[in-house]
Amino acid sequence: LAPDDIEHDQLACVRDPRRLRHLKEVHRARVGDSMTLGIAGGSIGRGELLALDEHEARFALGAMDTLPPPPLPVHLVLALPRPRMLARSLEHATALGVKAITLLHSQRVEKSYWQSPELAPDKIQTHLVLGLEQARDTVMPTVSLAKGFRPFVEDRLPELLEARRGLLAHPEMAQACPRGLEEPVALLVGPEGGFIPFEVERLIEAGCEGIHLGPRILRVETAVTALLARLF
Ligand code: SAM
Repeated sequence: LAPDDIEHDQLACVRDPRRLRHLKEVHRARVGDSMTLGIAGGSIGRGELLALDEHEARFALGAMDTLPPPPLPVHLVLALPRPRMLARSLEHATALGVKAITLLHSQRVEKSYWQSPELAPDKIQTHLVLGLEQARDTVMPTVSLAKGFRPFVEDRLPELLEARRGLLAHPEMAQACPRGLEEPVALLVGPEGGFIPFEVERLIEAGCEGIHLGPRILRVETAVTALLARLF
């Protein structure tokens, strides 16, 4: 549920056509069903579907609880992949509990990707919401764009690394991806063609540790998912 869907403590109305379709076609919801509902940015609990037609769904809300925070605070810095991979990476990272994402330019990012309609805020939000819904999470990640590699490394990365351990995922690194971390992390994942050697050097100089995931070279969205699962 979006905060705007809440009419008062005990009643919510969904009018967004995409979510109405999701309720009918994916959840096969019927009047009288009891469902788990999350309020974006807040709590989660049970609700009963009171009415459902093509314009709205009305829910009686029961007691709501807050979800525990994600297992590890991760700021994902993802070199902008092609739109289809971006969609999946955003969805999977969100489902796994990432709450901050920076989309980064690098040499091997196609310039045209920055013009993609998939970067429109509502498109990005659609993928984030799919991840949240999947994981029964309610807290929307923030997504920011870093369209210049150099300004990112000089201005934003030092600030990020003040409070986090920086991990640069790159196949040729000597150190294996650590498991079960407990400290905050900035995780950097390269584009389809990988970071170029100069970029790897700059990121390491800036304070990132290079890590690998073994000899298999994974697609961006697979690497994001595998890395996050390992770190947790
Ligand atoms: N040929 C590119 C290279 O060697 O860097 C492959 C890039 S891979 C398709 C895209 C990104 O996923 C990489 O830049 C890296 O961040 C991550 N990745 C994929 N497989 C990895 C592995 N085995 N170890 C570490 N990172 C990996």
